[in-house]
Amino acid sequence: MSVLEIRDLYVTVETEAGITPILNGITLTMNTGETHAIMGPNGSGKSTLAYTIAGHPKYTVASGSITFDGQDVLAMSVDERARAGLFLAMQYPVEIPGVTVTNFLRTAKTAIDGEAPAIRGWTKDVKTAMSNLRMDPKFAQRNVNEGFSGGEKKRHEILQLEVLKPKFAVLDETDSGLDVDALKIVSEGVNRAKEATGLGVLLITHYTRILRYIRPDFVHVIVAGKIVEEGGPELADRLEDEGYDRFLDPAAPIE
Ligand code: ADP
Ligand code: MG
Ligand code: MG
Repeated sequence: MSVLEIRDLYVTVETEAGITPILNGITLTMNTGETHAIMGPNGSGKSTLAYTIAGHPKYTVASGSITFDGQDVLAMSVDERARAGLFLAMQYPVEIPGVTVTNFLRTAKTAIDGEAPAIRGWTKDVKTAMSNLRMDPKFAQRNVNEGFSGGEKKRHEILQLEVLKPKFAVLDETDSGLDVDALKIVSEGVNRAKEATGLGVLLITHYTRILRYIRPDFVHVIVAGKIVEEGGPELADRLEDEGYDRFLDPAAPIE
């Protein structure tokens, strides 16, 4: 088992208006084998948390720590984080012109493992994963994210997850823009990875819909860069009924 631990994390971003605080003291302990859902209204800092774990240079850690099995994640380069077993599926995946899906996956796998994967097993792995995700084999020869539909981008993220086999995945709004069929296919991919490798998942979402397919063990609600409530899957059900209003309206009664 591996542990991703976030302690009292404060993160700022520099804008034209100056240095703006976005995360205001986030503490979370997540074990592999567990699924944690981070939920919250738009602009609450969910993607900022994902980017900070991934090491995006735009986000500055003012204080606090992130460790993975005791190792200081914040001291690692983006590559080192990937080699340590951390994976981030971004809300808005970027295009990589001139790089095909198949070459991208192989390069990433080689970088993470420190050696190229054996051709036969690798080719089979990629084929199986693509077929599980109902991806046309021709897709492998397309340039990464170039002209991909929203659904194709998300499937490509899960394809990476299935073949790169990280220990811990941060999935930022993997559900956004997916119809129900695509959502099911993508969720099945995440569930397969959980079963196959005991993957830990930090599932970031605004909506409860994906949580019907990927059942969280823990739910954390984040508002204005702070965790305001935590619970089990029942908290997601409650948010589905009530939305985030009670967290946003200061006059609302607190139970
Ligand atoms: P969420 O993912 O929960 O919708 P974000 O983490 O994307 O929230 O954003 C949280 C807040 O931080 C928002 O007010 C957003 O405008 C601001 N923010 C995030 N990233 C940047 C950035 N790169 N530049 C300027 N402001 C940012
Ligand atoms: Mg948002
Ligand atoms: Mg976001």
